[in-house]
Amino acid sequence: MQNNSVWGRACGLTRTVVEAVRFDETVDAVVVSARPDARARSRCGRCGRRSPGYDQGTGRRRWRGLDAGTTRVFIEADAPRVRCRVHGPTVTQVPWARHGVGHTRDFDAMAAWLAVQTSKSATCQLLRVAWRTVGSIIARVNDDVEAVVDRLDGLRRIGIDEISYKRSHRYLIVVVDHDTGRLVWAGEGRSEAALNRFFDELGDARAAEITHVSADMADWIAKAVAERAPNAIRCADPFHIVAWAIEALDIERRRAWNQAAGRTIEKSPGRRGRTSGDSRTIARSRYALWKNPTDLNVRQRQQLDWIAKTDPRLWRAYLLKEGLRYVFAAKGQDGKDALDRWLSWARRSQLESFVHLAKRITQHRQAIDANLEHGLSQGLIESTNTKIRLLTRIAFGFHDPEPLIALALLALDSHPPHLPGRN
Ligand SMILES: [Zn+2]
Repeated sequence: MQNNSVWGRACGLTRTVVEAVRFDETVDAVVVSARPDARARSRCGRCGRRSPGYDQGTGRRRWRGLDAGTTRVFIEADAPRVRCRVHGPTVTQVPWARHGVGHTRDFDAMAAWLAVQTSKSATCQLLRVAWRTVGSIIARVNDDVEAVVDRLDGLRRIGIDEISYKRSHRYLIVVVDHDTGRLVWAGEGRSEAALNRFFDELGDARAAEITHVSADMADWIAKAVAERAPNAIRCADPFHIVAWAIEALDIERRRAWNQAAGRTIEKSPGRRGRTSGDSRTIARSRYALWKNPTDLNVRQRQQLDWIAKTDPRLWRAYLLKEGLRYVFAAKGQDGKDALDRWLSWARRSQLESFVHLAKRITQHRQAIDANLEHGLSQGLIESTNTKIRLLTRIAFGFHDPEPLIALALLALDSHPPHLPGRN
């Protein structure tokens, strides 16, 4: 009897009577026979109401618990049904597990913690479970967090963005809180309807409290924000504006590549054509042109020097891209003045892609100025997206977006899963 209570403690069982412990050779595991104690028994599995008995259900059930040393452990118990006055005939609640699942709460907590803190393979190998199982666990752990915490409370300044995953076949909309730096919402898709689901959950009263929304200039975001958050000032997300400049620069880079010597491609059977000479140098300087100057390595800096000497037109495009980055670094009135200068520079640049960009920026000038005034952090959106991209790589094996969204919320908001026994 004393032995049984030691096993009860070791398995973290509370409000539970341990009846017996044995080693089951057929499944190579310790099996702990248990039942809810007098206070915990005869309760509806869905709402916890004490209810009259209904039938014996489907007999004995097992729940996978945390390993004891090197050995797997199962909790085994009867699973009778009660007649709940709200839910009708329902399998009874057990103190050690969520309703209708095959793992204990401690196992769930450990799996969710590992998925957030380590890698997919570490989680699956250590716990000896399939990643699909981990996905279901993460989703229910997050559901429990959402049952007690409302992540959408008190939002004032938010950022909205879309990210692609599964090789751009799928999309998520993510909403970040600029004031806390947290991810507060994520949903599948990239459309006005998808974004409206966020505003539905937020509700009109809380949406009216939102003062600023930073986002890219996609029309569907603009439309949803204008309709659903009427008091919000829309701010252009500098990250996307600079991305436009990188696109414009890339048009110039391809032009330079097409015109450069060595462009002739020697084709021979069974081999891909190769470029040489200036054209190859331009092809290889792609990253040097894209990156921030502070992130360049020595070779990339040399590539830029070479472009400055040999292709003034491409160099001008590069300087325009950097000039636009400076606008957002300067911020405030300085940023606005810098943008005025930048626009007249771009219009006179004789670079078609930048003349076009100047027009596009002028169209969105109000939202860009709003950002320069209110300075919503570009770093937050960038870093959130980088983290989610890492998570999407981890969560690539999930068939549905729900576990991925739950993983992102658990990993990037302020309610991370706890270790078993430490809450
Ligand atoms: Zn019930």
